[in-house]
Amino acid sequence: MIEYLSIHLQPLMLDVVRLSIWFAILCVVFIPLEHIFAERPQKVLRKQIGNDLIYYVLSWLLPPMVMAVPLLVVAWAARQFIPSGFHATIAEVPFWARAIVALVVGDIGYYWGHRCLHTVPFLWRFHSVHHSAEDVDFLTNTRLHPLDMAFGRLSGLIPVYALGLAAPTAEDSLLPVVIVLTGTLWGFFIHANLRWHYGPLEWVIGTPPFHRWHHALTPANRNFASLLPWIDMIFGTYHSPKGQSPSSYGIPAPMPGALADQLIFPFLPAPPGSGAVSRREADR
Ligand SMILES: [Zn+2]
Ligand SMILES: [Zn+2]
Repeated sequence: MIEYLSIHLQPLMLDVVRLSIWFAILCVVFIPLEHIFAERPQKVLRKQIGNDLIYYVLSWLLPPMVMAVPLLVVAWAARQFIPSGFHATIAEVPFWARAIVALVVGDIGYYWGHRCLHTVPFLWRFHSVHHSAEDVDFLTNTRLHPLDMAFGRLSGLIPVYALGLAAPTAEDSLLPVVIVLTGTLWGFFIHANLRWHYGPLEWVIGTPPFHRWHHALTPANRNFASLLPWIDMIFGTYHSPKGQSPSSYGIPAPMPGALADQLIFPFLPAPPGSGAVSRREADR
């Protein structure tokens, strides 16, 4: 029994240590910066911080389990339907070039997945947990229903796997790790409560001013990309007026405050006026 527990507890303990180290690094980097260069005055121990800390743990542990089977199926299908010569050509491309292509393809996939999370009423029920944040700071990045996080990551990774840029085998599995890690770390940055502006870089790479407008109560449904804002420009959803900031964040409909209620909220019948359609209407 003790041997069984020690074998299974070791990976769990390693995860706890990893989570704690990452959290310490994030706090050391962002808390002082958000204090000195705050875009709007907010407390560190702001509303819903307890929930967001638990989301941080859940979002680290649960989505990989949800994602494993769909990614295996897509990778298998890619092997069946894409000519082997294409895979051989891709394998010869240097890793750094494959990584750049995968980041672009992944963010285009994420853009459309994220846009569906906003416009398909059932998916919006999950994603509205993220958007219910009334204060946005670096930790808001973790405020995601675990199924929302799994869906968002899958929408970025599936095109990468489908094109044969990555596979869940030992030699090809580094690229998905690079994509998920880059997206996650960049996610903390774009949510940070920082008043800095970045000039022309703001339409090249995702920044806090760009993502702040994504959380704006109005206009809704803008700035879906995570890393690459020019994807929003191409598809007509870019919004980042110079020198302006949103007047408020959040969603028009109420969201339960307790974590357990937020986790089951998407599965309950939607009250009238709380769906994605009403969010689109808020845009007018
Ligand atoms: Zn969103
Ligand atoms: Zn966000």
